[in-house]
Amino acid sequence: MVDRQERQMLDNQSGRNRSFRVGLCCILALIFWLWGAVAYGFVIDETLTNNTPNNPADDLQDVARWSNVPGSVASNIRGLGEGLEYAIAPDFCSRIIPLFADTKPPTCDQIQTSIQTAMAHWGQDHPSLTFKNVTSQRSAQLPPQGDPEPWRGFGAEIDLFVLSPQDYPFLADFGAYTSFWYLNENPIGLQGRPLPGKTITSADIVFSNQACYFWDPRKPIQGCNHFESLLAHEVGHALSLDHPNEFPQRNFDTDNRLGNVMSIDCQNPTKSLKLSTRIDPQAIMNSSLGQSLGTQTQLSVDDLGGRNFLYPICQARATAKQLSQRPPSWQLFGVLLLGSFTIVFGTTTLMQQGDKRRRRRYKSGG
Ligand SMILES: [Zn+2]
Repeated sequence: MVDRQERQMLDNQSGRNRSFRVGLCCILALIFWLWGAVAYGFVIDETLTNNTPNNPADDLQDVARWSNVPGSVASNIRGLGEGLEYAIAPDFCSRIIPLFADTKPPTCDQIQTSIQTAMAHWGQDHPSLTFKNVTSQRSAQLPPQGDPEPWRGFGAEIDLFVLSPQDYPFLADFGAYTSFWYLNENPIGLQGRPLPGKTITSADIVFSNQACYFWDPRKPIQGCNHFESLLAHEVGHALSLDHPNEFPQRNFDTDNRLGNVMSIDCQNPTKSLKLSTRIDPQAIMNSSLGQSLGTQTQLSVDDLGGRNFLYPICQARATAKQLSQRPPSWQLFGVLLLGSFTIVFGTTTLMQQGDKRRRRRYKSGG
């Protein structure tokens, strides 16, 4: 099986504003990463970190986040308000159930429950990071290829699909592919103040119809992916996390102790972070590099450390009242700024015009 990251960046004509598409494709892996003694940490998406390649710590300022704003996609507002709303493509179950290799494949109800469970892992003990299935109100939709403003957001905030590599070329040879769009605009943190970085507006998680999956974690099937574990990993990408085992040079931690909870300063989430080249072997965000596949449905303390850096929590946790105090200008985000952005949507022609692009492919057995 294969794991891929792809990211593209293209400046617009003015060279000031930029739009981005980030794609992350993965197959979940439980890599037993034997680098001797381990320190733990997390890695944020690399796409946004090209400005100062010799100073990875500075790249923390450029990370993309979902904004903590009230409202829902029903009112064209995208962010953590009313939960991260997700929609499941209507043919998701009919396409993926035949791909399960279990003796008794899951039902569609079980799959939907598993989707909610996988997402909810990322919301544990967090006041504002929740996930809501809005499939009955909102159809999953990919940005139409060639659409000039894909960052406007199509479908729900997170959409889930099962597609063929022919229909979704990013999937070629890969088990799943997650991409997100973001604006070059500071997101709002849980405290109601802007945080550094970019603002995610939509994410798409696409499973390949050429992969195989298993349902029962007690009966792993060689060469297949545990569905819930793989999805939990992909959701981590949709939140802007990357693979620690692939990018140890950009792995962050708050100290040198092993396996302890990271203490993230909610007022200044980059404050206590420092680079640590040893990675967490238990992180669900580790990728497959050709080794054993398996089941991991629980996040490690460093997965949660990365989450808390992206979506920092203060002792006095955000409340609905705080949410209501978000700058009203945010509500116009879908209209403002976007007209000046230039699109890159992953086709060969446009990629060849890109100022920068990177592509990674990782192959593994299965
Ligand atoms: Zn991945």
